[in-house]
Amino acid sequence: MTGYFDHNATTSLHPAAREAWLRANERHWHNPSSLYRDAGIASQQLESARERLGALLGSEAERIVFTSGATESNNALFASLGEDQLVAISAIEHPSVRMAARKALDLPVNANGVVELDAVKMMIEAKRPALVSVMAANNESGALQPWREIAALCRSQGVLFHTDAAQWIGKIDATSLGECDFITGSAHKFGGPKGCGFLVLPTEDSRLHFMRGGPQESGRRAGTENYPAIEAMVKTLETITPRLGEIETEQSRRRDDFIAAMRSRFGDLRVISESAPRLWNTVLMVMPAHHNLKWLTALSRRGFSISTGSACSSGKEGSSVVVTALGASVDELKRVVRISGGWETSAEDWQTLVAAFGEVFEELNRGGRPQ
Ligand code: PMP
Repeated sequence: MTGYFDHNATTSLHPAAREAWLRANERHWHNPSSLYRDAGIASQQLESARERLGALLGSEAERIVFTSGATESNNALFASLGEDQLVAISAIEHPSVRMAARKALDLPVNANGVVELDAVKMMIEAKRPALVSVMAANNESGALQPWREIAALCRSQGVLFHTDAAQWIGKIDATSLGECDFITGSAHKFGGPKGCGFLVLPTEDSRLHFMRGGPQESGRRAGTENYPAIEAMVKTLETITPRLGEIETEQSRRRDDFIAAMRSRFGDLRVISESAPRLWNTVLMVMPAHHNLKWLTALSRRGFSISTGSACSSGKEGSSVVVTALGASVDELKRVVRISGGWETSAEDWQTLVAAFGEVFEELNRGGRPQ
């Protein structure tokens, strides 16, 4: 039984990642830039991991730059753009895109929290941005964005397209993502180690510089490569990818049963982006009463981990720009909770969570924790 329902914040290390990480550290800990045989082998292993990741993303290996995670990838991309280059980003991007793309034009979302193709078309016609950035799946609502169609539209208009796929990769097959010019990914969202991720570029010789110094990553990101973490990240994705179709079918049913059970317990419960296609693991809902932090704390005491919105924007009351963009009022915002399951979350886990929500409701109605 697991009470962990915060997989969109981070995941535990997958056993395959752990094994790959340990093995890489034991055998190939040498500096891939050094010139002796063992270093050459480490370098070959690193390039093989790049090839394997390229196959999983439908991208040429040369386009991949390994980074410390999605925040670095997003920041590096926007830092590389000239001051005069216009960018358009969706209204529901993660703070690491929103804050990095400071003067960006806002692409609106519809009532389901989804960017419509027409909005992108109109933006391109009116403003001719150099780059459009729309995430693949939203970290809070789980709403899937039509990134594939937007990528095709941008391509036909000669506009570059970036997708932050941190929440998509490891949950839904990623082999078409290579159609985007830029892709952001982060290992710890899918069972890989923290502090490891990547940015896919349009071409090998893109003039993007993440970090200046040594010649690593074709001179684009200097610093000794974290091969063990990279190996672990690629290994997890290789392990999980063949199972994703089956996981989606099974887990979507469990998520929907959870919503139905919550509705029968709480009556009219608002699920944000409910009519949009969503990640199979995510439910962002407005509780009928009580502050979200009270729900979170009381559930935490019972061994359940949930969120009041993304970890990056929680802790600041009423600060979730995304939830507001998704159409929640200020009052509703205080009652929003996010539940995000994982590959192995069982039907029983979901149902136990419903029971815990019920108990907590009674506790909160009585005025809080029993003395
Ligand atoms: N983008 C999205 C969509 C995310 O969900 C997150 C993690 N909350 C990030 C970027 C930041 O990822 P990282 O922790 O790898 O920097």
